[in-house]
Amino acid sequence: MLISIASGKGGTGKTTLALLLATAYSNITLVDCDVEEPNCHLFLQPEWQNPSREVTITIPHVNSSLCNGCGTCSAVCLFNAFAISGKTALLFDELCHSCGGCLLACPKDAISEEQKNIGTLMIGRAAAHPGIHLVSGVLQVGTPSAVPLIKKMKQETANLTGDVLLDCPPGTSCSMVTAVKDSNFCILVTEPTPFGRHDLELAMNITRLLQIPTGVVINKSDAATGDEIIEALCESRQIPVLAKIPHSLSFARQYAAGHISDEFRTVSSSIWNQLKTERGTTK
Ligand code: SF4
Ligand code: SF4
Repeated sequence: MLISIASGKGGTGKTTLALLLATAYSNITLVDCDVEEPNCHLFLQPEWQNPSREVTITIPHVNSSLCNGCGTCSAVCLFNAFAISGKTALLFDELCHSCGGCLLACPKDAISEEQKNIGTLMIGRAAAHPGIHLVSGVLQVGTPSAVPLIKKMKQETANLTGDVLLDCPPGTSCSMVTAVKDSNFCILVTEPTPFGRHDLELAMNITRLLQIPTGVVINKSDAATGDEIIEALCESRQIPVLAKIPHSLSFARQYAAGHISDEFRTVSSSIWNQLKTERGTTK
């Protein structure tokens, strides 16, 4: 079962929940798709099994001795990655989406392909939690899109038989959509505030479009301020509230120190039990 954990914005407790769920399970793969700021490894302290692997994308390379500046590449590129300067085509590779269209269209065969490094991928086992297999990635600074790296990380899990947890990038960007896509179930983590409700609604729109069964976990749940604002939205969308994680100073302290609190193991067990039920209803 592929379970994604997402949120409408950063800082809502998505990674915390991913770690709680992973450590409550004996044999699982956790994929840290938050490649701009991965931090699951800080808690799990994995021993990386292999040297980190470079992940590359294919981008065009213009042979200026063959190019006559005809502009065909610029005309076919939907992402405006080419500009024509005099009799030469200039590539802005950060805009390139590696579609290969310009290569096919160039009448002078002036375009070839080359590889560009966009990040690294690491795989390891957590020393203190040997049942957790961690896949983590780091996006190269300045790389505009995390999508190819996230796709590569998900490919690593394609042949695994056990359950896979995806800690998704925050927000509702294309990186989040790439991570969440094809999940059997998505857990959206939120906080009971008007901002939390707004961001949750955006994230719900994404999982509805992708037709992914969804549940909500309310983090920093507070009986004094009330969770009604989130519960009303969930009810209107017929999305279950799977669990509430109370606002707890001791938990925050342990988390800040890099420890995974025992306080919420009952919460994670309850979520797993609900996911097991869901497993019977998803393919
Ligand atoms: S299509 Fe080919 S020949 Fe024409 S400008 Fe682009 S690279 Fe140069
Ligand atoms: S590979 Fe595609 S996206 Fe990249 S420059 Fe060529 S046409 Fe544009």
